[in-house]
Amino acid sequence: MGIKDVTILGGGLCGLTTAWKLQEAGVQTRVLEAQPEVGGLAKSLFWKGFRFDVGPHLFMPREALLLDEIKALMGGSYQVPVRQSRLWFKGRWINYPLTTRSLVDIPWPILLQATAEFASLQMRYRLQGEQGREHLAQGKARYGTLLDQLLLSEQTHPIWQEDSAFLSPSWSTQNTPLPPSNGGIASLLREAFRPPTPYTQSLHFPSEGIGSIAKRLQSRILQSGGIIHTNARVQRILIPHGEVSAVVFDDGQRVQHVPTEYVFSTIPLPSLFPLLDPLPNHALLEQMARLRHRSLLMLRLIVQQEKADTQRWFYFPAKQYPFFRASFAQPLSSSTLPKDRACLSVECIFPEDHPLLRAPAEEILQRCLPGLQEAQLVVPHQILEATVHREAFAFPDPDLAQEENLRPLQAFITGTRRLRAIGMHSSFRSWSLEQTFREALRAARAILDEKNPRRPTKIRSALPPPASP
Ligand SMILES: Cc1cc2nc3c(=O)[nH]c(=O)nc-3n(C[C@H](O)[C@H](O)[C@H](O)COP(=O)(O)OP(=O)(O)OC[C@H]3O[C@@H](n4cnc5c(N)ncnc54)[C@H](O)[C@@H]3O)c2cc1C
Repeated sequence: MGIKDVTILGGGLCGLTTAWKLQEAGVQTRVLEAQPEVGGLAKSLFWKGFRFDVGPHLFMPREALLLDEIKALMGGSYQVPVRQSRLWFKGRWINYPLTTRSLVDIPWPILLQATAEFASLQMRYRLQGEQGREHLAQGKARYGTLLDQLLLSEQTHPIWQEDSAFLSPSWSTQNTPLPPSNGGIASLLREAFRPPTPYTQSLHFPSEGIGSIAKRLQSRILQSGGIIHTNARVQRILIPHGEVSAVVFDDGQRVQHVPTEYVFSTIPLPSLFPLLDPLPNHALLEQMARLRHRSLLMLRLIVQQEKADTQRWFYFPAKQYPFFRASFAQPLSSSTLPKDRACLSVECIFPEDHPLLRAPAEEILQRCLPGLQEAQLVVPHQILEATVHREAFAFPDPDLAQEENLRPLQAFITGTRRLRAIGMHSSFRSWSLEQTFREALRAARAILDEKNPRRPTKIRSALPPPASP
């Protein structure tokens, strides 16, 4: 018989992509999103004539079919800009990923030390033959501690709390070809003096902003008869006899009780568990309460500045600043804005209970200003307006210590029939858009295979077979 209708909690890219694929394959799908707009962590906000892209700024899928799928979804509204980011390192801007130009920008004592370390590591692992080549596939072993810190850990560790060895190649964005196995000392040294090249020179980005992916998905779902409720707060998920039967939600106008055959949750696990009816046992709820999130807030500044560098992201890996990234927002229309106005968006990530998350805008500005000024991004007397965008923007704190609390919760969900938790919020790890799309397609395919087990799935993608639902 198969599944005929599915309810999806959360209208971020994971929930929307799952809904898109299911609805187009004829499964009645309903998305419940708590916010007034879909998009979740990947959306565009608009303020004073500028567009701010929240969350992801790069998409580097390694699977050609997945990329084709996204390109087809976005139509012509898609671009491949040259990746341009800069890293504020010891008082200087350095291109990130490193380019040959960075050799001039990196202070020479650091460069010498890093190069010597890099050369000695390459030599050491070369002498170990095959075994050594395995080590070279990992950041620290490959670049040496110093370059690894500069390229990866300094940048990624404070933000993502992940050792660079755990990062996928698309995250680490740097690639050093392995030295040829039959090369001599001269070729090793040549390799050592060659700076790492970017893993990819380009990234993919929708020309109308990251939020346009969610908008495009929304219209495809609606066109094919799917339902999306925004401002919809889920109140209960009914699970009599260990199997999902209905969802109760409030869309701001009335409380609706909707029978459903299957629920995919993409919402944070700590939001999901209290909704289950009956509630899981006390011990599980305690474990759930120990999961920690981080939150993101955006300080937005309108500055008097003629030439804003709209193609760049500026990273601040050092821990002395409250923010980790700044970028100039895109003007919505150059004809309606005064020519000397630019808008800078400054992103701060804090643990969920950090006091600065609720501090007045003035205080946040005062805390951010010295770093922005030092990096010559703003001149205080040219700031015309400042505001703070606050939103829960909860995303998991991928602390390995959380795994212990996480496993029993995941096991509980897996043991509940017709309920699945998918996406970054179910695994409490840093995620990429690529993983998000991949998991959504896999989730949809699991349902479609159940619906029609004899016929191969119609989802066009080179994905590995799904885990059993
Ligand atoms: C700062 C930042 C930078 C990033 N940079 C990159 C990058 O450069 N490249 C890249 O590939 N990836 C990047 N990512 C990761 C990428 O944004 C995520 O992998 C992806 O957006 C996650 O989508 P999701 O649908 O799983 O989660 P979400 O987008 O969080 O969606 C969950 C949805 O559930 C809703 N919700 C929550 N509670 C409820 C409830 N009770 N009822 C109903 N709805 C609810 C939320 O409002 C939200 O819309 C970045 C993320 C962040 C935060």
